[in-house]
Amino acid sequence: MPNALTNLLGMNKQALEVFLASIGEKPFRAVQLLKWMHQQGETDFDAMTNISKPLREKLKQVAQIRPPVIRDTFAAQDGCYKWIVEVESGSGVEMVYIPEAGRGTLCISSQAGCSLDCSFCATGKQGFNSDLTSAEIIGQLWLANRELGGFGNPSSGKAARPVSNVVMMGMGEPLLNFDNVLTAVGLMMDDICYGLSKRRVTISTSGVVPAIRRLHEYTDASLALSLHAPNDELRSQIVPINRKYPIAELLASVKGYMDTLRDSRVVTIEYILISGVNDHRQHARELAELLRDMPCKINLIPFNPYEGSDYHRSSNSAISTFRKMLQEAGYTVTIRTTRGDEIGAACGQLVGQVDDRTLRSARHLAQRAKLADGEAVQPVRVMRGQP
Ligand code: SF4
Repeated sequence: MPNALTNLLGMNKQALEVFLASIGEKPFRAVQLLKWMHQQGETDFDAMTNISKPLREKLKQVAQIRPPVIRDTFAAQDGCYKWIVEVESGSGVEMVYIPEAGRGTLCISSQAGCSLDCSFCATGKQGFNSDLTSAEIIGQLWLANRELGGFGNPSSGKAARPVSNVVMMGMGEPLLNFDNVLTAVGLMMDDICYGLSKRRVTISTSGVVPAIRRLHEYTDASLALSLHAPNDELRSQIVPINRKYPIAELLASVKGYMDTLRDSRVVTIEYILISGVNDHRQHARELAELLRDMPCKINLIPFNPYEGSDYHRSSNSAISTFRKMLQEAGYTVTIRTTRGDEIGAACGQLVGQVDDRTLRSARHLAQRAKLADGEAVQPVRVMRGQP
């Protein structure tokens, strides 16, 4: 049964002002509500002591501050957390917290499942269920702060917040849920909410070109591009959205966005290294050539195997050769260290529990059954030979 009370958690200042006007209240109350919700983590109107009692009573009649619910918590030895968060569609999505020296990064989800079906991705295999609301997206940051003790200590300021960075790299393609993601990103960066710097909030996309083209109208957050292949033929197999928006068009849209930022930031190119698929020396050469005119840094991500995947992690020597070749071509290259491995929190392992509207998970199971029977299916082309 739908909840009749309006959820204020995902509203930005403008939306709250409109809501307050609709109940005959002054716009300045919006800032008070935002501070209570996002600086103090408060959900109880009665605790909001600078709001008059009659208004608190009125708010209780029509509104609610309703974060999503944590269904499960997994803690890894290395300090990482993975939470399964239940959203209103009934699906479970995942968010992951990764503490490092001097910062804490929260990886959050934008959709329950994903429609894009990248060949290496556990989420893609689950199919798609629903877009998350802005309350469910910002609600993940809200929940992480609550769980990690980041609320309610205004005297210690932002430094006390355990989450210093947010990456939209969890389940889903953020730019296919554009309005809700951008509203939540705005709240993350708003000084009266979480006040995260634009350098510390990263939207990661697999390449929704029309959305990248209009992104600059709504935000100046940092951008990461999940490229994963250096040519259209291979990328179309690994990242199927490439068939619709090929690499040249995609890189032009990314460059266009970066040009609007007017600062020294560069795009992060994400490249998952899959043994025998995209980790050959020739791929490194092609990648170096492809990105020649793109100010960027390259993040290499060794594939994390999960149950049901036929891919394998590249060997250490293939990974270091790939990195060396890119470095010699002049690129800044990092290799993402695997964190939270034992709780399935590593990149590409996020699965959640999605009520699959696309029936993709059923198709994948059927395909695997055919493979087990020795029947031919269409696999991703694998390049043989040692890099
Ligand atoms: S990698 Fe991202 S865009 Fe691709 S299927 Fe997975 S969640 Fe979707």
